[in-house]
Amino acid sequence: MKALDPPPRLLLGPGPSMVSPRVLAAMSRPLVGHLDPFFLGLLDRVQQGLRDLFGTGNPLTLPISGTGSAGMETCFVNLVEDGDEVVVGVNGVFGTRMCEVASRLGARVVRVEAEWGSIVEPAAVAEALSKCNKPVLVAVVPAETSTGAWQPIEEIAAAARDAGALVLVDTVTSLGGCPVEVDAWGIDAAYSGTQKCLSCPPGLAPVTFGERAVEKIRTRSSKPKSWYLDVGLIGAYFGNERVYHHTAPVSMIYALSEALAIIEEEGLEARHARHELNHRALMAGLAELGLEPAAAEGHRLWMLNSVRIPDGLDEAAVRRALLGDHGIEIGPGLGPLAGKVWRIGLMGESSRAANVRRLLLALAAEMGRAGVGEARAGAAVEAAEKVHAAASG
Ligand SMILES: *Cc1c(COP(=O)(O)O)cnc(C)c1O
Repeated sequence: MKALDPPPRLLLGPGPSMVSPRVLAAMSRPLVGHLDPFFLGLLDRVQQGLRDLFGTGNPLTLPISGTGSAGMETCFVNLVEDGDEVVVGVNGVFGTRMCEVASRLGARVVRVEAEWGSIVEPAAVAEALSKCNKPVLVAVVPAETSTGAWQPIEEIAAAARDAGALVLVDTVTSLGGCPVEVDAWGIDAAYSGTQKCLSCPPGLAPVTFGERAVEKIRTRSSKPKSWYLDVGLIGAYFGNERVYHHTAPVSMIYALSEALAIIEEEGLEARHARHELNHRALMAGLAELGLEPAAAEGHRLWMLNSVRIPDGLDEAAVRRALLGDHGIEIGPGLGPLAGKVWRIGLMGESSRAANVRRLLLALAAEMGRAGVGEARAGAAVEAAEKVHAAASG
């Protein structure tokens, strides 16, 4: 083994995002035991920080050991039993993944499909619910990272509640980037991940369960099909009992604690506004390069910007050059959007005016080299700067 020496990168893909040196430093602090009073106090503060982020008072709010998908699996494995009817909004990779997870648990999955890049219409969800016998859960993805579509939640949540179903949302890309109001929107359970807008390395999945979800877990007729992700057992470690379940990933909790401190210092509103502003600046600049947004108008995420690739451009070659020659990572399209879009993440620490500028300059250079469009680097940077200037008055 050689000494570790990762190349410097500007991470502007679908995650991981840039991580503050403060968070990296937190991970290098000395370990304590997972039952050390210092660590238990830290866990309490992390749980409270997550409640503030989720907009909830839910006692059962904690970070699961694992990435965002472990959060997804935790929610389904605890809330779903064999034969349960589960309605899932599917307009991208993560809705599709939800269906896969739910069906492996023996759920009867009802898919409400929408075109990738569009939103799932609340009326379509309501119609699917009306055809169900006894729907147990409705699951949707407010921020579809695979397409850049921003899915409104409140109407779907209301329809689900009217039908007596629980509401589960995937806030992996939303949390810390745009408003998420678990209590106010009537959300019963939500999961997230640390490496997107929380700007922490991948490795933890914050989850929250409300009263109705906890009641469903309490009255299940069978044990959850995962021992590791059983929130009844994990909750006993995070709660007053402090019963050992599995060794908490101490250094990751340090990292999350510091990331939450940074978010608190900035303030959630200011953080959301920053994501919105840099999104507008990026889009203004990209338009000058002839790159059009791919997600439906009026439903475009601030944190994940998907743009159509111009005809005749070798998109993989441009991404390779961005990474190799400019040290910038952006994401490719997935599934039906493969080869058709780029996905540019401006998440957490990555959402900065200087990063928008650096990407515009690099893209203009590489598109110019490929001979596609006009290399309007100056115009692109100017358009982005105009957006920033207007915002600072
Ligand atoms: C990234 C992501 C996930 C999966 O998270 P991992 O950390 O890759 O397991 C789930 N849902 C959405 C919306 C995501 O963006």
